Amino acid sequence: MIEQVLPNIFKIQIPLPRNPLKATNSYFIRGNERNLLVDTGFNCEESRSAMISALKELDATMENTDLFITHLHSDHAGLLSFLVKPETTVWMSEPDGYVVGGGQESSHWLIFSGFLVGSGLIADGIENTIERHPGYRYAPDIFDGFTYVQDGDEIKVGNYNFQCVETKGHTPGHICLYDQDKKLLLSGDHILGKITPNITLWQLGEDVLGDYLRSLDRIASLDVDLVLPGHRYLLNDCRGRIQELKDHHKARLANVLDILGNQSLNGVEVAQQMKWDLTFKDWRDFPWGQKLFAVGEAMSHLYHLFQIGILQIHCDNDIYYFTKR
Ligand SMILES: [Zn+2]
Repeated sequence: MIEQVLPNIFKIQIPLPRNPLKATNSYFIRGNERNLLVDTGFNCEESRSAMISALKELDATMENTDLFITHLHSDHAGLLSFLVKPETTVWMSEPDGYVVGGGQESSHWLIFSGFLVGSGLIADGIENTIERHPGYRYAPDIFDGFTYVQDGDEIKVGNYNFQCVETKGHTPGHICLYDQDKKLLLSGDHILGKITPNITLWQLGEDVLGDYLRSLDRIASLDVDLVLPGHRYLLNDCRGRIQELKDHHKARLANVLDILGNQSLNGVEVAQQMKWDLTFKDWRDFPWGQKLFAVGEAMSHLYHLFQIGILQIHCDNDIYYFTKR
C-alpha cells in the first residue's frame, strides 16, 4: 500500500509475514536525478513482491534510486542485497553496516547463543534454534558496498536536505534523517507511536538503555513537526511521544527494582514477573520470540541499573545474577 505523505515523499507498507509488527514503513523520496528509498522490509517473498510492485507503481527503478538503511534489523535492511544495483549508493552507519554486511554469517549471531545462556533462557528450557529468529531468517545476503554515514552527514534528495542524526540505543548505529527547514524526521525505530521500540541487551558491556535515553534527549532538542516512523502511523507530537517513551522506561526500571527486592535474580526470572502488554497469563505460554524480546528488555534495564551504580552482578554457572548494592 502506497500513501503520499508529503510532496514527493511516499510511505510504502511492506508486509512482514507472521510477525507482530505486521509491516515496515519504507519511504520513497522522489528526487531530480536520483530518488532515495529508506528501509526495505524482510528478505522474504511477501516483502519482496510488495516492494517490486510499489516501485513499479511509483514508476521508479533501482538504477536511479539510492538506499538509506536506518539500522541493522532485518525488517529494515532485509532486501538491500536484492534491491541494490551497481549504480546504487547504500548509506548506513558503520556499526550497523558491519553487522548487516555479514548476513547470516555475521558475528552478531555468535553472541546470540551467549545471550541465551547468560540471561538464563537455556536453563529455563528455551529451544536454541537461531533459525527461528526472524532477524536471522530474513537477513539480507552478504553485502560489502556500503557508503558509511555518521552524525552530521548530509543527504540531499530533490527539495529535501537531510542530516544524519546518530541515535544509538535500539541498535548500536541507528541513524535518523532530519530535515531542519521542513521540521521533518524519519525516525526508523528510534521513535514509534503506540509500540515502544525494543531496547534489548544480548551482551554485557554497553549500556544500551542509557544510550537510548540519551538519544531520545538528542531528538527532543530538535524542532520537529512531523515524524515518519519505521512502523505504524505518522506522529506530530514528537516531544510528547519522547516523554511517553522516557516515562515508560522509568516505570519499567522501578518495576525491575521492585521485582528484585532483596533477591538475586537473573534476566529470565525478572522478565517473568515484569508487566508486558501481552495477553498470555503464564510465562510458559509466551511464544519463543516474545520470550527473547522480554528477556532482552529485562537485561537492558538490569544492566542500566548496574551501570548507574544501583545493582551489582555476579556470574554463576555462566548465568548473570543481579542484586541491589
Ligand atoms: Zn528495529
